[in-house]
This record gives sequence, structure tokens and C-alpha cells, in this order.
Amino acid sequence: DSDLGHYTQLGVLGVGTFGRVVRAVHNTTGEEVAIKLLPRGNFGPVGSRQSELYRRYVSREIKHQSSLRHPLIVALKEVFLTPSYLAIAMEYARGGDLFTYTLSHQPSGRLSEQQARWIFQQLMIGLDYCHQRGVANRDLKLENLLLDRDSQDGARPLLKICDFGYAKADTNSSANTAVGTPVYMAPEVIMAGKSKYDAKKADIWSCGIILYAMLFGKHPFDVEDRLFIRKLVLARYTVPADVPVSEDCLDILRRVLVANPSQRLNMDQIRAHRWFRGSLPPGA
Ligand code: ADP
Ligand code: MG
Ligand code: MG
Repeated sequence: DSDLGHYTQLGVLGVGTFGRVVRAVHNTTGEEVAIKLLPRGNFGPVGSRQSELYRRYVSREIKHQSSLRHPLIVALKEVFLTPSYLAIAMEYARGGDLFTYTLSHQPSGRLSEQQARWIFQQLMIGLDYCHQRGVANRDLKLENLLLDRDSQDGARPLLKICDFGYAKADTNSSANTAVGTPVYMAPEVIMAGKSKYDAKKADIWSCGIILYAMLFGKHPFDVEDRLFIRKLVLARYTVPADVPVSEDCLDILRRVLVANPSQRLNMDQIRAHRWFRGSLPPGA
């Protein structure tokens, strides 16, 4: 179980859908890495529906993470087999994930507008690279955004997008399967099956949810709410009155969280928006 080839495990970083992610060190180079451990037992028997989903998930993850090479995307280092696991060694993001980072800002449990913008800007640049390469992530959320360093040392953390297990290549064709995490899913994705959707536009919606969550420390649409779907398809959400956020920031949020994907801001429009480009008033 603890056999990780030429790596030694140092601790557990996270537990995900199909396996856990551990922190490890390379025995000869001393390089620290994160290793996703996918139990080999889940692969068989061939032909069963569960194992097919698992195969598809794992092959997508490896394919995309190895083809996307960008400072804002977690780099894949190597894939190897141990007696129990298919192991994916990747760049270690020592700042952890953005969900934990946002929550750690106590007592508010949210980021300042400047911090949120710094992260959102990087998210858009990294995502633009993916989209230009024809890859949509389809599972963008705070838990899948990592930071290269922790907040304590004062410098601004660099973002690292991870988890391409639901990613879709060839974004010029449309998708019709509802994948992702409900609170981050665009209305057209939730309604998929009835109609096709553009996976790039759906990614943009998720980025709007991420921005809202960083600013306000909660999600705009609550899955526990009986009216969740109804509010989501109408993009009807409120912003807390007690959190000071600039008009420009609310404006970009309003234009990203638009139910109709053809009226939602696209990547270029977001990157040209005043809030994205401009500087914030002091103390905002
Ligand atoms: P899953 O597909 O199961 O959601 P993820 O790839 O999202 O798996 O990893 C689960 C969690 O493990 C992440 O939310 C994060 O907290 C942690 N993690 C994953 N990759 C890394 C990494 N490269 N560096 C640091 N932490 C990581
Ligand atoms: Mg994940
Ligand atoms: Mg995943």
C-alpha cells in the first residue's frame, strides 16, 4: 500500500472522487510532488459500466494534463504503476486548494476584492490557454484551483488549475452530458440531455460562481434550496448587502452569471472589462 516506486510518501493532501492525493518526495532528486493514487482494482472487470466510466475519467485526466503545458496549470510529471495503484505524479502546489484558502480567511471566510481579482485574472488567463487548445475543464470550482504558495509569506500566490478528469477536448463541437458539481454547473449544463451546450461557455459560468464564492464566502445558488433549479435557470441570485464590493465588480459578476449562454460575457469580453483591467479604489 505504501509502495510508491521511487517516491516516499510524506502525507495526504486530499481525498477525491476516485482516489486520494498524497504529498511525496522523489528518493533520488529530493523533488516534492503530489501523487494522485487511483486504485487499480477499479479498472476491472472490462465492460462493466462503472469500470468504463473510471477508464474514461482516468485517460482524460492523463491526456489533458500532459498536453497542457502552462505555468497556471498543474504540470504532470509522470504516470506509473504500483502494485495497488495507477499513480499520477504532478507538480506540488504547496498553497493547497482555494476552497481551504478562502475559508482560512477568518472570521469572514472570504477574500478581499483585490485578492479575488488577482485569482480571477489568473483563472481567466489559464482557462483561455486551455480553451485556445480546444480543452474545456468542465469541473472548475474552488477545490480544483490550487495555489503555489501559502498566504503567510506575503507574496501573491500563483494559481494552478488542476483536475482535468471531466475535461472535454474539441470544444468546437458541443457536449450534452451533465458533468461537474451542481453548485458550479451552468443552467444549460443542468438542463443537458434536452439540448446541447458549449462547454467553454459553461466553464465561464463556473468562473462566475468561483468569483462570487471568493467574494462572499458562499455560493450564489444553494443546492439545499427547494427552488435551486428554478433560481439557477433564471440566474436569480442576491449579493450580501454587508460585504463592500465595487460597482465594477458587481457589473462583471452580473454579466457572467447570465442564464442564456449567448448573452453571457465570453473570454475576450471578460478580459476587456473595466474591473478585470482597471485598478481598484483604495480600501475596496
Ligand atoms: P478529484 O478528481 O478526486 O477531485 P483532485 O485532482 O481535484 O481530485 O484532487 C483532490 C484534492 O487534492 C484537491 O482539491 C487538492 O486539495 C489536493 N491536490 C490535488 N492535486 C494537488 C497538487 N498538485 N498539489 C497540492 N494539492 C493537491
Ligand atoms: Mg477535484
Ligand atoms: Mg476530478
